[in-house]
Formats: sequence, structure tokens, C-alpha cells
Amino acid sequence: MTAAKQTHLYGREVLRSEFSQPIIDGSNLLKTSGFYIKNGKERCRRCNHPIVPIPFNQCTCDKECSYCTNCLQLGKVKSCSMFFHIPEPNEFKKVPEPILHWKGKLSAQQEAAAQELIQSIDHCETRLLWAVAGAGKTEMLFPGIERAIRQNKRICLASPRVDVCLELAPRIQQAFPDVPISVLYGDMEEPYTYAQLTVATTHQLYRFKEAFDLLIIDEIDAFPYRMDKALQYAAEKSRKSVSTLIFLTATPDQTYQKRIEKKQLKASILPARYHGFALPVPKNVREKNWQKALLHHFPNTKLFKQMQQLFKSQKKFLLFAPNIDWMTAFSEVIKTHFETAHFEAVHSQDPERKAKVLSMRNEELDFLVCTTILERGVTFPNIDVLVIGSDDRIFTESALVQIAGRAGRSPQYPTGNVLFYHDGLTKEIKKAIRQIKKMNEIAKKRGLLNS
Ligand SMILES: [Zn+2]
Ligand SMILES: [Zn+2]
Repeated sequence: MTAAKQTHLYGREVLRSEFSQPIIDGSNLLKTSGFYIKNGKERCRRCNHPIVPIPFNQCTCDKECSYCTNCLQLGKVKSCSMFFHIPEPNEFKKVPEPILHWKGKLSAQQEAAAQELIQSIDHCETRLLWAVAGAGKTEMLFPGIERAIRQNKRICLASPRVDVCLELAPRIQQAFPDVPISVLYGDMEEPYTYAQLTVATTHQLYRFKEAFDLLIIDEIDAFPYRMDKALQYAAEKSRKSVSTLIFLTATPDQTYQKRIEKKQLKASILPARYHGFALPVPKNVREKNWQKALLHHFPNTKLFKQMQQLFKSQKKFLLFAPNIDWMTAFSEVIKTHFETAHFEAVHSQDPERKAKVLSMRNEELDFLVCTTILERGVTFPNIDVLVIGSDDRIFTESALVQIAGRAGRSPQYPTGNVLFYHDGLTKEIKKAIRQIKKMNEIAKKRGLLNS
């Protein structure tokens, strides 16, 4: 291997411990210290976190050494650490035409957004794609990605969640069969490879420096990206200073919504679902003192009557609950009153999570009780959605919009009821309903709705 071909360092910023290949000194290899100084304070070069000096005596450097506690999971960055980097040369094999092999058809609104995306790629802009759940955002990206590939740009599609990456990668590969794709996430077993197109969790962006000409970040409203300043720093660090940044979301938070209103952020809004039916607007149901009432007087509650009606008419439904403990207790109560019903309760720490979701998808269950883990990503064809305790703090505007977006997804069953059970309206409930209504209004105005 010659120094000029250390492709695994192209656009990367990594510690020696982060890869197994040898390093050969060469004119293009850059080495930097683990920390840097900003306004007189030491910060971690990988995550920008301020360094709090901790006595650390086991270091092989035998000097006064400290380390960054913020990004430990990626390997320790110490005072004596060294980062390796080779500036991104965009050394890709020319992709034969046609680059895009996808044969589907974009809807009118997808086509319009795809064109705006191409504009932003040509002009190296930042743009937010606000696409409601069910609008078909992945396909809409294809023409833009094709453009960027043709321009020999390096592209990354990042998502906060590994499940999304694993679902996305094969779809992208199918659409672009001649483009090498590198899929990066925490527990991956394959070694890192240099590729024109990368699909990665947002955490992997820490390992890049000025690599991407086009960075697309999916689900910016999702944990942990939304709250994590270090991750946002990593995203900025990973792209070139002149590059295109695309945010994807179904429910931007108030900060983004305000920036769009003030025209500080370019946005493409896709207010309609692919099938052209309006988003179901949630209805509010007052369930007084629901925490206790549902556990102790379940047959007297409005929720009970609704569940009974759905069960009798064999309509499937998802029942969202605010937390695992309460949900577990409530599941026991449900069992005693719905003895013949087939249902499961599922949460993030549930080892049988995948199997339970699958049996709901295969229509083997009458209903599925769950926490917010099912708020996004999952699609069941013909369901109603009930949210218990929608006044709980866990149910933010964006969570509630996502949850409501589970109903009416399929073209065969484009409608569905969404019911919010609570003991008083919260700001988040009001904002969520307002957001859904607003999307429906925009869709109607643009003539995108069937009815
Ligand atoms: Zn750090
Ligand atoms: Zn040291």
C-alpha cells in the first residue's frame, strides 16, 4: 500500500485505535492532537465537549493526561491522543448511466420537492424536507442523490436510529446498484470501506471530517439528535465547508418551524400522503384521573367502552401508554376484562419486541399495547390509534404527530381514528393537532387531496 492510497482515511478523523489498517506517513496524511483550545478552554476535537481535567494516572504517556468523558463509547480521546485524517479527494469510480435504476413514479408533490432538492444540491444550500408520515420521503431523495453521484460528490445519509439505517440501505442499494455503499453503525462487524455513498447512524459522523458534499440527516426530530449539541457538531464537522445539508423530518419542532416562517431556512413541505387522503385528525377524550381510573375502575371508563366496541367489530388498534411500569400494570387489568382477546404489550427493553410487532403486522393480534417505541417507523395496514395519558410529559408535539401518523397509512385503508385520552389538554396536544390540521389545509389548498 502506498501512502497516497490510504482510502480508509479519506475524509475521516479517527484515532489509531479506531481502525486496524497500518498508517503510512505521506504528504497528505494530517495528524492533530486529541484536544484543541477554544476561548482558552480545552475541548475534545471529536465531539467539541469541554474537557474537565480528571486525574488519570494509567496513561502510557507518563504525563499529566486527561480524557473526554462525552464520547467514550467511540474510544477514549486523551490529551496525548492523535487523530489521523486525509483530506477528501473524491476518488470514485465513474458510475455508468443510467445511475438510478428505480422504476417507480413520484407523486406531484414528491416531484416538486425532488426538483427543489436538486437545486439545493447544485447551489450547496441547506434545506429542510418536511414530509408527513406516509408521503414517501425516501423515493423523493433518489433524483437528488443521482444528481450528486453524477457530479462525483461524496454523499451520506444519516439517521439517529440504526433500524432505519438497516432498512434504508438495501432500498438505496437497489435504486443505485452500481454505486458502492458503505453502511456504518455501532455494532457493525464488517470493516470500514471507502465509498461514494454512505448510510450511517448519526453517531458515526463523529468519525468524519470535511468528507461529504451532500449530507442528508433523517428524523432530526428524533432522539438523540434533537437534544444533542455534540451530535449536531459532529454533523457539521463531517461535511465540507461548501456542501449541501438536507434535514428530513415529519414533524419539525418549534425552532425549525419558526426558522421556516421567518424564511431563515429553505423548506420543501410535503403535506399530503402518497395515497392522497388527509391525515387523520386526533379527537380528544377526557378521561378523568386516568392513571388510577383505568387501573381500578376500568369498566367505568370511556377507554373501556371504546376498546370493547373496537374488539367486537374486530377493528385492530394500537394502544399507546406513557411508560413501561404503568403499561405493565394496565396490561394485567386488560387481561381480566378482555379474556378472549389476543394482545401483547411491548416496550423498548422487551427482548421479544420484534416478534410481537411481527405478530401484530401478521394480524394475529386484536391489539397491541405499547410505549412510544412504536411512535415511528412501524406501519400496520388497517388500525385505529388510541393514546392513553396523552397529557403525560413524554408525549411531545412531535411524538403525538408521529403517533397519529400510524393511522390510515395504507392505500387500501387510507383512513383511521386517532383518539387522545387525557385529563386536560396540554400545549403539546394542542400544537400537535394544530400541526396536523395545518398540513391538511396546505394539502387541500395545493389540490393534493382526493376528497
Ligand atoms: Zn469527546
Ligand atoms: Zn496520555
